[in-house]
Amino acid sequence: MKAEIISIGTEITTGSTLNTNSYFISNSLLEYGFETTHQTSVDDNIERLKKVIEIALDRSDLIITTGGLGPTEDDLTKETVADYLNLKLKKDEDMKRKIIQLLGKYKNIPKNNFKQANLIENSKFLKNTVGTAPGIYLEHGDKTIILLPGPPREMEVMFLNEVIPNLKKNDIKIIKKSINLTGIGESLVEEKIKDIIKMYDDIEVATFGKIQGVEIKMIGRGSDLNILENKINHLQRLIDTRFTDKVYSYNNEPIEKIVFELLEKNNLKISFAESCTGGLLSSKFIRQSGISKVFDRSFVTYSNKSKMEELNVSEETLLSFGAVSKETSIEMLKGVLNREDTDLAVSITGIAGPRSDSTNKPVGLIYVSIGNANKTITKKLEFNGNRRSIQDRVVDYALFEIRKFILNNY
Ligand code: AMP
Ligand code: MG
Repeated sequence: MKAEIISIGTEITTGSTLNTNSYFISNSLLEYGFETTHQTSVDDNIERLKKVIEIALDRSDLIITTGGLGPTEDDLTKETVADYLNLKLKKDEDMKRKIIQLLGKYKNIPKNNFKQANLIENSKFLKNTVGTAPGIYLEHGDKTIILLPGPPREMEVMFLNEVIPNLKKNDIKIIKKSINLTGIGESLVEEKIKDIIKMYDDIEVATFGKIQGVEIKMIGRGSDLNILENKINHLQRLIDTRFTDKVYSYNNEPIEKIVFELLEKNNLKISFAESCTGGLLSSKFIRQSGISKVFDRSFVTYSNKSKMEELNVSEETLLSFGAVSKETSIEMLKGVLNREDTDLAVSITGIAGPRSDSTNKPVGLIYVSIGNANKTITKKLEFNGNRRSIQDRVVDYALFEIRKFILNNY
């Protein structure tokens, strides 16, 4: 069964709203055994919307639209679908009463709000427990057409509570598993798993290059979940033995979680000193609940003065080598380790851009130091990109370095 998602709204096609609905729906559909083969976006224009529906009906079995169910003039999804299929729209009195109940606190309910009580013939409403616009479920010939509201918080609840139970009849099962690797390039990964890719017809194996590594994604399709599971587990064992320490995570569990677990397992506490990332590493790290078990503290030392006052970096080092230097990065690290009762520390100093500092060192030059009482490692990096992407990448880089440092048992 082929699914197609149509995202409707000028805010989507003009790029003023990020299309998270398509992502959410296709990702969730896969969990339930439906594959999305097309995602289309179209602006609030009747003719173009009709054309898109025509194309979707021609190539897909399940069509899910989002957006255009609101009360305003430009919300035309229901009207356009009904018109295209030659189906009548009829006011549903129950739904009208519900809308009055919901909006009753407002004295004058705009007439347009009652558009939302219109039901396409042969269809049924999907309950909206978060907002006023109900969805629509319509079976037309051998096609299923589902209209959902645009706001993600309304759409997502409706999708899970109202749409999925209607779709569950499907007997094709899908199972997914990802293996995440670091420190190896995509083409090498692909070469090393050539035989694995072809091993089972019902398990698709694909590689995706990511900023910090490679994801090997396995998708199994069939009617027997046990058989699929056994095959995927078999492939996973083969991949694990081929890549050993390059495997850092499964199912895209983020690196900060992996680091958290490693620290916890080894009973280690960590502290950070951040300059050009301004606390980003700490803030990503502390998003995880229970992190106080492994995280002691962090210093945001942006200015030279703060590096001297908080971390005891010497003025001489700052003057002769600059704030962005191996020497400063090591002194920042030592500053944390000497000052605090922490097992491990990380320091980050660099130029996130877009302008350089007074030393004219290149934008993207970063020093990351990691160490404990016995050993210190400093990495010099040259990233390109904008300020934000450089900062994000440094944070991930530091997390991967922490993993390596702990695994190496220094
Ligand atoms: P609508 O139902 O067309 O009135 O959409 C209402 C609001 O939902 C829009 O203004 C957006 O903020 C949001 N929205 C609509 N479509 C999407 C989408 N595909 N992804 C994320 N948000 C959306
Ligand atoms: Mg709209």
